[in-house]
Amino acid sequence: SAAQAAANAKAEVGRATWTLLHMLAAQFPDRPSRQQQRDARTLVDCLTRIYPCGDCAQHFAEIVRRDPPTVNSGREFRRWLCGVHNRVNARLGKPVFNCDLVEARWAPLGCSAEEAAAGEPAAVG
Ligand code: FAD
Repeated sequence: SAAQAAANAKAEVGRATWTLLHMLAAQFPDRPSRQQQRDARTLVDCLTRIYPCGDCAQHFAEIVRRDPPTVNSGREFRRWLCGVHNRVNARLGKPVFNCDLVEARWAPLGCSAEEAAAGEPAAVG
């Protein structure tokens, strides 16, 4: 049915978005630059307005208003993200995720600019 298709699309974009956010947080630096901190805050802020499910965006805006992103380190950002994801989980009746396991669930990809520069021949790419 149309309602089922809409529900599937909502879940799909949700999984895709959480995957992007957690992977981004997984490789967010221990000591982010001002620009990186600003970028993380801006990304979250944009999602509260243009996330493709309007009522989700509104609920998320409320969550973020009460608990603004902490972006002083990768560890902080990962904790914050786990916390807000858990608030969405709770709203949807999904199990709460143990935030001590977040770094095991979402490992860095190992393809940051610094690692690429250090580990690959200059001619690659
Ligand atoms: P997801 O919640 O998509 O999670 C993907 C994977 O992340 C899980 O399988 C698990 O391995 C891991 N995970 C789970 N919790 C955590 C955590 N706390 N920290 C780290 N990793 C974790 N859907 C609605 O129906 N209504 C809404 O109002 C709504 N609001 C949303 C707001 C935002 C900003 C986003 C990104 C999504 C929202 N969604 C909403 C979608 C919803 O959160 C799920 O993405 C969707 O229901 C699919 O759920 P899932 O069970 O596949 O796991």
